[in-house]
Parts: sequence; C-alpha cells; structure tokens
Amino acid sequence: MAIAKPVTATSPMPAVQDEAIRVTDLHKSFGPLEVLRGVSLTAHKGDVVAIIGGSGSGKSTLLRCINFLETPSSGRIAVNGEEIEMRADGSPVNRRQIERIRTRLGMVFQAFNLWTHRTLLENVIEVPVYVLKVPRAEAIERARVLLDRVGLGDKADVFPSFLSGGQQQRAAIARALAVDPSVMLFDEPTSALDPELVGEVLTVIRDLAAEGRTMLLVTHEMKFAREVASHVVYLFEGRIEEQGPPAELFGNPKSARLKQFLQTVG
Ligand code: ADP
Ligand code: MG
Repeated sequence: MAIAKPVTATSPMPAVQDEAIRVTDLHKSFGPLEVLRGVSLTAHKGDVVAIIGGSGSGKSTLLRCINFLETPSSGRIAVNGEEIEMRADGSPVNRRQIERIRTRLGMVFQAFNLWTHRTLLENVIEVPVYVLKVPRAEAIERARVLLDRVGLGDKADVFPSFLSGGQQQRAAIARALAVDPSVMLFDEPTSALDPELVGEVLTVIRDLAAEGRTMLLVTHEMKFAREVASHVVYLFEGRIEEQGPPAELFGNPKSARLKQFLQTVG
C-alpha cells in the first residue's frame, strides 16, 4: 500500500513570527460537493478577521477545517507559524499535533454547546483540568476570573439550562478562553439568540477584540463586523470573492456579488 507523503516533508512553509493563522489554497469537498475551492487567508496576531457570506458559502466549513473538526481535502494550514502536517488527501499525519494545536484555538459555535449536566464552573475547568492537566485549584481560580469577565461571576454553580441563551453563550466564551487560546474562532455566535440578547454577547466579543485577542469571526452582524474587524473576508461559493479593510469592503465594495449581498443583509 502506498503511503502518501506529508506535503511538509518536501516544502516547508516559513514560520512567520506574527502570524496566528495562515490558510493556503484550502479545498474541501463533501462527496461531489465542492464547498471550499481554494481559500487562502492570513490572520496576524491581534487581527480580528470577519468572515461574511451567504448561507452555504463555506464559512463554517472553513472554521471547522482550521481546527480539524473537518478534514480538508487539500491545502495547508498553519497556526502560530506551525504547519499542520497533512497528507496529500488532507488527512493529518499526526493526531497528537492536531490535539496540541486545538488547545491553542478557542471555538465558540452558534449553538452554545455547553455540557448541560455540569455547572458553568465545571464547564469552564473541564479542558484545563482533564486535557491540559492544570491543577484543579488553579483552574477554578482562573475560571472564576473568566466567568466574572463575561458577567457571570454569580452563576458559577448554576447549570446551563437555568440561564438565558445570552448567558449560555457568554459562558461558552469563558470556556473557550480557559485554555488561553492564541486564536478565538467564532461561528455566528449570536445567530441563535433572541434579538434582545445579542448585544450582551457582542459586548464580550468587542472587549476581547479591544484587548488584542486574535480572532476569526463568522458573523451576520454587519455593523458589528464593520466596527470590530481589522480585515473582512467575503466568501462566495467557497472562494474569497473580495477581502480588505472594513471601510473598503463595506464602504466601497468592488464585486457586484458583494454589493448585492450587502444590500440583502444590510
Ligand atoms: P455556511 O456556514 O457558509 O452557511 P457551511 O460551511 O456550513 O456554509 O456549508 C457549506 C456547504 O457544505 C453547504 O452546502 C452544506 O450543506 C455543505 N456541508 C456542510 N457540512 C457538510 C457535511 N458534513 N456533509 C455534507 N455537506 C456538508
Ligand atoms: Mg455556518
């Protein structure tokens, strides 16, 4: 049986100091459906990259490939200058590397994804204690600080089902922060929320941006993207149709598709 060689064995990607995420020519198909058709993007440390695009354009798939919740079909991904070793078919060479890199990525999904049978505090300490082997007392101390930061200091011992969607999502953000990730990945963190709860979650994300957290943020909140993003990427059918600084992209879009998209969501 032929074993595919890792791409990196023959062509190492230079590690660039201030790069948080670099995606190069990423492709992903589900059977015959080509969802990502050659996406390349770079997020430098401190960047807030907003990813916008219509439903089905591949936004979630892109984020999920970056932390290998989906296996790319081909392409290259580097986190903090460390390239993920993939075979020619996109499969990871080294599971341990994936696990290690994942702990540098904090992911927040559309649905809050908290463990329902655990309190908020237990949710937040889970990965630090059981995966990263942080001493329990230390993890608890840090979890309390994080819950405080997202305005849930008094809810540490409460189970998720007793909380509003906005509170649950803020807890999910605290949980993602518990590993002190170098990059936060947000996939439409407010789209499952009642409108009156959106603001409290955006406030937390805005604060993270203001303190220089690197993030990739898939969002339908165009006003928010314009306000917090340092760079905006517009995906159309699995390709980057246009990208640039928010003032350019929103204020002076060049692509007809982007213009039309902004009219429909704006
Ligand atoms: P977006 O987040 O931009 O709405 P997605 O990345 O979720 O788009 O999906 C892009 C396309 O890929 C859609 O057509 C979707 O149905 C398809 N897709 C996503 N995940 C899977 C999967 N696990 N299996 C098959 N098709 C999928
Ligand atoms: Mg999506």
